Amino acid sequence: MYAVVVVGVDPALLDDELGRARGVAGVSSDGELDATQLLEVAGRFEALAQAIGGHDAIPDDPFEQLVRAVGAVFDSWQGAPARTYRLHHDIDESMGTAVNVQSMVYGNAGSTSASGVLFTRDPATGERGVFGEYLADAQGEDVVSGMRTPQPLREAARTASDQVTFEQAFPEQWRELEAVCTTLEQHYREVQDVEFTVERGTLFVLQTRRAKRTVLAELRTAIEMVDEQLIEPDDAVRRVPARELPKLLAPQVVDLDRLELAARGIAASPGAATGEVAVTAQDAVARAATGADVVLVRGETTASDIAGMLAARGIVTARGGATSHAAVVARGAGRPAVTGCTQLQVDEAAGVVRLGDGRELRAGDRITIDGTTGTVAIGTGTLEPARVDPRLARLLDWADARRTLVVRANADTGADAARAHELGAQGIGLCRTEHMVFDPDRLPHFTRAILATDPQERADALDAFAPQVQAEFEAMFAAMPGEPVTIRLLDPPLHEFLPGSREDAERIGAATGLDPVHLLRAAGALREANPMLGHRGVRLGITAPDIYRHQASVIARATASARARGIDARPQVMVPLVSEPRELREIRAVIEAGLDVGMGDGPRAGETPEVPIPIGAMLETPRACVLADRIAAHADFVSFGTNDLTQLTWGISRDDAGSFLGRYREEHVVDHDPFGQVDVDAVGALVAMAVERVRAVAPDIEVGVCGEHGGDPASIAFFASAGVDYVSCSPPRVPGARLAAAQAALAQEVERENGREVARPAAPATPVPMA
Ligand code: PEP
Ligand code: MG
Repeated sequence: MYAVVVVGVDPALLDDELGRARGVAGVSSDGELDATQLLEVAGRFEALAQAIGGHDAIPDDPFEQLVRAVGAVFDSWQGAPARTYRLHHDIDESMGTAVNVQSMVYGNAGSTSASGVLFTRDPATGERGVFGEYLADAQGEDVVSGMRTPQPLREAARTASDQVTFEQAFPEQWRELEAVCTTLEQHYREVQDVEFTVERGTLFVLQTRRAKRTVLAELRTAIEMVDEQLIEPDDAVRRVPARELPKLLAPQVVDLDRLELAARGIAASPGAATGEVAVTAQDAVARAATGADVVLVRGETTASDIAGMLAARGIVTARGGATSHAAVVARGAGRPAVTGCTQLQVDEAAGVVRLGDGRELRAGDRITIDGTTGTVAIGTGTLEPARVDPRLARLLDWADARRTLVVRANADTGADAARAHELGAQGIGLCRTEHMVFDPDRLPHFTRAILATDPQERADALDAFAPQVQAEFEAMFAAMPGEPVTIRLLDPPLHEFLPGSREDAERIGAATGLDPVHLLRAAGALREANPMLGHRGVRLGITAPDIYRHQASVIARATASARARGIDARPQVMVPLVSEPRELREIRAVIEAGLDVGMGDGPRAGETPEVPIPIGAMLETPRACVLADRIAAHADFVSFGTNDLTQLTWGISRDDAGSFLGRYREEHVVDHDPFGQVDVDAVGALVAMAVERVRAVAPDIEVGVCGEHGGDPASIAFFASAGVDYVSCSPPRVPGARLAAAQAALAQEVERENGREVARPAAPATPVPMA
């Protein structure tokens, strides 16, 4: 350990030495080597260390060794594994690390000694009862390194008759250990991760800390600790990490039985994954970079494998138990994992995994793993989202009682809206209507509409697919009765709807009767140098009002038809990319005319809608934020499109930023990807300023966020403090958003109790004059 951590010797070289010594001695475990053989191994270890660290690599003076060991621990903070881990888990760079120096007790002092690691509850499932492993006559490092497969602690955890449990071998110390676990949980009101050693019959507890666990285990332990009156419901709401909740909806494999079994091991981290085998971390990273799903298969994993583990969908190891490095990292990262598949032999050099019966898997072959049952199978399994744990509903009920922020979903179909409703969304905050147009049956009609040379021709082309769009709107209203369904009028530049290649042009030509050459020429004429800054959003509405007018009429028709069927349809019409108050004023008249047409010829012909259809604007350009009060004067609601707002505030393309943002994060030029977590300093400041300006002229106007940030817990905390009314996000992120909104409310409550104002970015003092 000293040679590896302090001097930097490759652990594989040390393993090779031990393997050679076992071979020469004709024994199968290190414990069977006698003193002379061990001395020889130690000599070779020292030579390896000296090859790197010079003659003094391992000093004889124990204090000198200690000083160097402490230095190595501090240095590890800047090591590649720690950096990768911090980046992934969003851990503050400036936190630093600490070192505890303790006197040693020895678990390897013979058969009355042992070392073990335990969790006071199962860290994978949260199930009550001590969960852990030990090795007799061994040090703690032997247990966690994955080099030897440890034994279970409890009789109840025994999985094979030849196992010797701690409870059986050390009954007195087991009783003492159980009592210690209860005391620790009562004191900390948290699940504990405990390391212990028995030295010649005496139990020593070396350390205890909060147990890292899967989100499933977080959920279960939080709920059960409320029931055990250890914590309050508010503590449970605070404790479960909102950003991890989507993992509860992680896919499960439904047809594992159909696949050929490759190996069984320890169910180390729940969920399922299917993908290409990679046998090295580098291979996993390289394959994932090409877009492939990867399962990393290793003998055991070490800290240097972190990047590969995070790039992989799932992890398999041949050695190691449920507390091995692989298991702990996989659980933390929400990756399914199967560890201790002792039948597997991983030949890294040959890029091959040998199965117990002589079959082989090569890097690139597809496998499927089930981390909930500990199964590895050959081939591609079918993954299905997990069913929501009923405990989640209880937690979210507590969260809902606390939050003030409304959570809606971004959805473009009736089916997505229904799923969002099931997950607790209180309406649709963004329906991107272009997604309805991209349907292959509808697109040719829209192409005809774009190329139409007179208004009637355009109207006919739009009418040709209007019934399908109307039906989709009605399905969304039915899925969200009584809740707002915010329908965003067409946003992308028109060339996106025209063929990009000769083949596309021929296909669309065949479907529409239009000449492919004409189609390609038209697409070329509409192509722009910077389409995201070009002829899109409300600019399309103003220059081609027929399209928005028609969309509004279909929305109204769907509303009238749904209401006639007794559905409480509550559409809202939203205009994208408004930057100038007069844009909204002008387009509002167009939309109102369209709504009148739709309502007029619907099943309730001639009636005004009993519930009006609000018309609002997206605030997604910096100019719109500065002029938010003047835009709000023409709007019934506003919603921040923080994707475009980030793009336009930073001046970086949301489609291409990946080429440098990764490096920016690694180099700490930015702390977060601004498209994932709202950039509070600038984009957030614009949002806060706009909210204040809107509220100054229209205190009751509804203000929402419908960019991707609406599903990001850290951003949600900011939006709550900025005073928005709702966030809207993709359906799987809805439960996490509900929880994050409650956590934000609880944090604000604490701030208020402490007499501090909730921090908000300052807005300029003088409001911009009204239009
Ligand atoms: C946005 O820009 O934040 C938004 C929601 O619109 P879109 O992602 O469709 O541009
Ligand atoms: Mg946008």
